[in-house]
Amino acid sequence: MADRPYIVGNWKMNGTRAMLSQARSIDRAAQNLMKVEVALAPPYTLIHPVHREAEQIGVGAQDCHPGEDGPHTGDISASMVADAGAKFVILGHSERRQDHGETNTLIREKGASALEAGMRILLCVGESEETRDEGKAESFVTRQLKASLPETLDNPEESLTVAYEPIWAIGTGRTPTVEDIGAMHCAIRATLVELYGEEQGQAVRILYGGSVNADNARDLLAADEVGGALVGGASLTAESFLGIVIAAAELQDQPA
Ligand code: PEP
Repeated sequence: MADRPYIVGNWKMNGTRAMLSQARSIDRAAQNLMKVEVALAPPYTLIHPVHREAEQIGVGAQDCHPGEDGPHTGDISASMVADAGAKFVILGHSERRQDHGETNTLIREKGASALEAGMRILLCVGESEETRDEGKAESFVTRQLKASLPETLDNPEESLTVAYEPIWAIGTGRTPTVEDIGAMHCAIRATLVELYGEEQGQAVRILYGGSVNADNARDLLAADEVGGALVGGASLTAESFLGIVIAAAELQDQPA
């Protein structure tokens, strides 16, 4: 697994140019927190402006169309977000699976397009509360992961990040136990090793996402195989997001 924890803010459908000052503050603070890799995924309209502000942080998109540029009114291709400055694309977020009926097959195609455009993929997977209650969370998530990954993925260490985001934990203030997060991340790790071999499978970062905030970040980031966090609500202000980044940096300072 890459050495530095990776903390990614997903602004979802939030943000106008007035929010650029938050991105600037996050970027300037990240310059003094080099033990942590920090990135933001603003809405499409802010990718280029955030990219222009960013001296340290990475910038990504929250989605892309699977096809080439062409007659798809209202859609945005992978090459377009890459041209705007995105270095990665979040794919398979449960809000897109739910709100837009995105299937594993579509996500797989989007992933191939994103890679073709030279970006990395941040692939989200996660179970519903019902699936967890039935005791099927790990089998569901590992199946979803396999089905959503692009067919060909050279150099997974460089081109892939996985985010485990239980649907019932997103925006609810609820989180799984540290033990449950660790168990799920170990199951995801085993799947990545099965798919890509020991060295590459171990090198892919697996993030946890779902109601991460400055108060719980330390515990959640310390769980087995957690290589960082995907953060929604708490990424919308520099103050709350940097609280998480600082927690990740402090954890790095602790003896293993
Ligand atoms: C997300 O939607 O990716 C997310 C993790 O949201 P929140 O942090 O608000 O739960």
